[in-house]
Amino acid sequence: MGKIIVFCNQKGGVGKTTTAINMSAFLAEKGLKILLVDADPQANATSGLGIDKKTVTRGTYELLMGIAGAENIAIPTCVENLMLIPSSVALTGTEIELVEVENREFKLKKALEPLKIRYDFVFIDCPPSLGLITLNCMVAAQSVIIPLQCEYYALEGLSQLVDTISLVKKSLNPNLQTEGVVLTMADFRTRLTSEVIKEVKTFFGSKVFDSIIPRSVRLSEAPGFGQPIIKYDRFSIGALKYEALAGEFIERNREDGNGAIAGFQNSAVEAGKQRQQQDLSSGAAQRIESNQ
Ligand code: ATP
Ligand code: MG
Repeated sequence: MGKIIVFCNQKGGVGKTTTAINMSAFLAEKGLKILLVDADPQANATSGLGIDKKTVTRGTYELLMGIAGAENIAIPTCVENLMLIPSSVALTGTEIELVEVENREFKLKKALEPLKIRYDFVFIDCPPSLGLITLNCMVAAQSVIIPLQCEYYALEGLSQLVDTISLVKKSLNPNLQTEGVVLTMADFRTRLTSEVIKEVKTFFGSKVFDSIIPRSVRLSEAPGFGQPIIKYDRFSIGALKYEALAGEFIERNREDGNGAIAGFQNSAVEAGKQRQQQDLSSGAAQRIESNQ
């Protein structure tokens, strides 16, 4: 049975979409069946995978409003094993439309339920708010991944997010867990980055993933070409770090006894680790310096 995970932080521009797209792509490359649901009216996950939101006639809006079933609207992407439920302009007014709907917090959960059997993981990319769309995502999910940017105000507003998660857990979704915290856009040349990492680890402890994503020009360029980093620059430092994060994610889920990957061979993860080591010794390390 697939596990549904939501990428959430009401703060804007912290790396939710970049992390959702690139973790999805690397897990799919390792052979896992992944569905990425773009629940953000900005549709960055949709355009980041090369699909123009203006051309989308059936997507997350139709799913939430019960107009179309999830099995009919997922579309293939440029990465094998990675399917997408795209966002579109229609999603823009959904927060308001949902207010009138009965059982409004459970719409996405109900819509995604039949799909859990088809995928190993369903990832949902949230908008930067704690409104009804995000609430729907949290109710549908088993766990939350919190991307945090390594900057001064990284922890600002986090208590609100943590409170929302525990409120949802108490009242709407008792099974909701915190999967982990991903630190993004780290600049290891600055003291600020190490201070933020220390502070976040004090707050979240072992929930923080060891793989920290550096600030990388290639990562910021890739969405402009409608490609995940795996396609845009497979051996850039950002790609290698997202690959390591995907490997770490698999290991954590294996330890937790997640059925989806219980029998998943370690070989793909090992191959990734080896490749990363080779690349680091053969020149990628220098690229860290130039943030590529
Ligand atoms: P929003 O809240 O608007 O949905 P978000 O949290 O999804 O934003 P992203 O869209 O993933 O954040 O990232 C914000 C911007 O930072 C984007 O332009 C993205 O390309 C860029 N970015 C993300 N991660 C990195 C990185 N590691 N290095 C450099 N740029 C990055
Ligand atoms: Mg986003």
